[in-house]
Amino acid sequence: MPSRRKKSRQRERILELIQASSGHPTAQAIHEALKGEMPSLSMGTVYRNIRVLLEQGLIASRNFGDGVEHFDPITRIHYHFICERCGSVSDFTMPHQESITKKARKISGTTITGHTIQFYGICKKCTHHKKEDTDERDG
Ligand code: ZN
Ligand code: MN
Repeated sequence: MPSRRKKSRQRERILELIQASSGHPTAQAIHEALKGEMPSLSMGTVYRNIRVLLEQGLIASRNFGDGVEHFDPITRIHYHFICERCGSVSDFTMPHQESITKKARKISGTTITGHTIQFYGICKKCTHHKKEDTDERDG
């Protein structure tokens, strides 16, 4: 049985990793990133600690349609940008459009509590790579 100190240290590092990442990591990615410094860290421990962090409201769970749960250090509702080429997910800095929720309330017979938006396209990194490939071919 890991000591209580070790347990809380693991949770701390998982939280730090999620907070330091802008890429909305999955449990698998978190495990991958931490297993070097914590060889005894199991996937089960990662999942358990993530559940606790979610319950504590320190992180949020996001579904980006790829079948795996992603974790977000920004817990308030905001928009995201998903790259169709590399699958990376980043925060999209467009202010929340409260008018969309209001419009939905008007046309809906049900209770609307909020909304979120995912924008799709090609990220800057992938756009840049494409250009480099072309440059190499030309040169
Ligand atoms: Zn990309
Ligand atoms: Mn986010």
